[in-house]
Amino acid sequence: MSFAAIRGQTRAVDALRRALARGRLPHALIFAGPAGVGKRATAYALAAAALCTEQPGVGCGRCEDCRLVAAGTHPDLVVEDLERARAERPTAMLLSIEQARRVRSHLAMRAVRGGRKIAIIDQAERLTVDAQNALLKTLEEPPGRATLVLIATNADALLATIRSRCQRLLFAPLEPDLLRELLEAEGIDPELAGRAVALAEGSLDRARTLADEEGLAQADELRAKLDRLRKMRLVDVLDLAGELAGPRGEKGRAQQEVNVATVLSWCRAELARAAADAAAATDPDDVHERLEAVRAALRRAERSYATSRELERNANVHLAWDRLLLELRE
Ligand SMILES: [Zn+2]
Repeated sequence: MSFAAIRGQTRAVDALRRALARGRLPHALIFAGPAGVGKRATAYALAAAALCTEQPGVGCGRCEDCRLVAAGTHPDLVVEDLERARAERPTAMLLSIEQARRVRSHLAMRAVRGGRKIAIIDQAERLTVDAQNALLKTLEEPPGRATLVLIATNADALLATIRSRCQRLLFAPLEPDLLRELLEAEGIDPELAGRAVALAEGSLDRARTLADEEGLAQADELRAKLDRLRKMRLVDVLDLAGELAGPRGEKGRAQQEVNVATVLSWCRAELARAAADAAAATDPDDVHERLEAVRAALRRAERSYATSRELERNANVHLAWDRLLLELRE
């Protein structure tokens, strides 16, 4: 993966290219932004550019260093993520202090192939507090020619002491046109791609999960259930929450993200309807009532966003869905 292959993140990529060209790559970076927009790919592209011997600062994509980075086996690159945590403890939901210590000692070592030392921590908001504290010393007295990249969908969940020592790069949601293009390039039917993109909230991962008849049918079904939510019996609402909390593991996580995106888009549609209704009101009594409806829709949308944050932070998934559906029902 090279910078040239990263789509839709021109600002972040340009900032990194400039820093490399000036020989001023920061010691610590946070790649912040929604899931599925290219943060991890950009982190690998950065590692390749920093370690490449053929085109230093750019990444040729062909030399031994670039190939080792792409394969994840470059001796000067270490990547810690949830997958690695689970290789050590299958039920792990957090990144451990051992992982943070590995990053710390990796960055403190001399570069093996001459360039610099790079460490990437994916889903850094899942680092335990102890693990984050273990990284602090590295951030306070960064070793020379070493760069730590923290990837986070919810960077605000990181300790303030960590955040204040990292330069933050923002990754934006991908534009719908680009998402459609990327899906179609993968051979996905244009009509399906269009429907998936409308629900994907700018995330390629979500768009991929949604872009089949089954994924879209499930999303439609969930929206229909949300429409009926206020008429549903409590026991059925709690059943639905259990269903949405879904299975554990990676497949469950992907589905969970799609469920959250569906609820968010449903809330936004409801809010838009309520706002249009309020704008169309002529009778003063009507205006008041319809504005109340807008406020209620806004509260529901806020709750959904808060829940999506909680789920990213790996709160109790069942409890989060229970609470959200009960609130949406009010
Ligand atoms: Zn290269």
